[in-house]
Amino acid sequence: MRQVARQARAEGRSTGFVPTMGALHAGHLSLVRAARAESQQVIASIFVNPTQFAPNEDFQKYPRTFEADSKELEDAGVDYLFAPEPAEMYPQGFRTWVNVEGLSERLDGRSRPGHFRAVATVVLKLLEIVQPQRAFFGRKDTQQARIIRQMARDLHLDSEIVVCPIIREPDGLAMSSRNAYLNPKERRAATILFRALDGARISIARGERDALRLTAAMRDMISTEPLAELDFAELVDAETLEAVTRLRGVCLALLAVRIGTTRLVDNLLIEEREGEFQTTL
Ligand code: AMP
Repeated sequence: MRQVARQARAEGRSTGFVPTMGALHAGHLSLVRAARAESQQVIASIFVNPTQFAPNEDFQKYPRTFEADSKELEDAGVDYLFAPEPAEMYPQGFRTWVNVEGLSERLDGRSRPGHFRAVATVVLKLLEIVQPQRAFFGRKDTQQARIIRQMARDLHLDSEIVVCPIIREPDGLAMSSRNAYLNPKERRAATILFRALDGARISIARGERDALRLTAAMRDMISTEPLAELDFAELVDAETLEAVTRLRGVCLALLAVRIGTTRLVDNLLIEEREGEFQTTL
């Protein structure tokens, strides 16, 4: 991988990089398309990063569909697939970690201590190996994208971090490899995240600016779904990820909800432009 990266740099070919954990879906492939549009060669990675899973989480059962994934990536025009083994990424004696302070402990980080430290570390390692001009991430994992952008800025990384839209199923559910865990009943229940965010979107369009009322309405909506258990519903500033009391500037409405044993996340982007609020699901 290093040789490929060095050669591309030497020949002045730009590389777009799409890091994934595999079990690919249309969300991942949208990142590949974005990478292709802006790069002369595209590299994707598949690495189910063991360190970002807590002992009680789903590392063992995380879906692994390597053969199908590599074919999909090839069909999508990816030039190289980097799929290292855990022992290559974490050789004996590994002890360096990247912690993006202040952003990593909030929201998902509160529910998953150590998760974002492990994500930032593995993304930095991947960027160091692949040396892309641009790396593509999904807004589905918006806190992750925010943390990686901060890391890239703070550590003067030579890769531009590009954040791409959320790709959804026809009924609104954000695509996720973890959706494969849902049984048919849970799959229907899982649309509650989208419906709660869509409710917030409609309220904002009607003039609601009060963050507490918006989050209360999202919590109420989640509570109507018997199979859903709320982890959090928050309205935060998109830069600091701190809770806001009123909409202002760029905000995010974030949801983390357990459907059965499957933890799902989704978010709504809220942007103030000339006094108007634009929302993007
Ligand atoms: P993962 O394989 O879940 O680690 O995701 C790899 C990349 O794909 C991350 O940057 C995710 O944010 C992105 N991604 C996952 N789901 C979606 C989606 N539904 N729409 C857009 N990007 C996504």
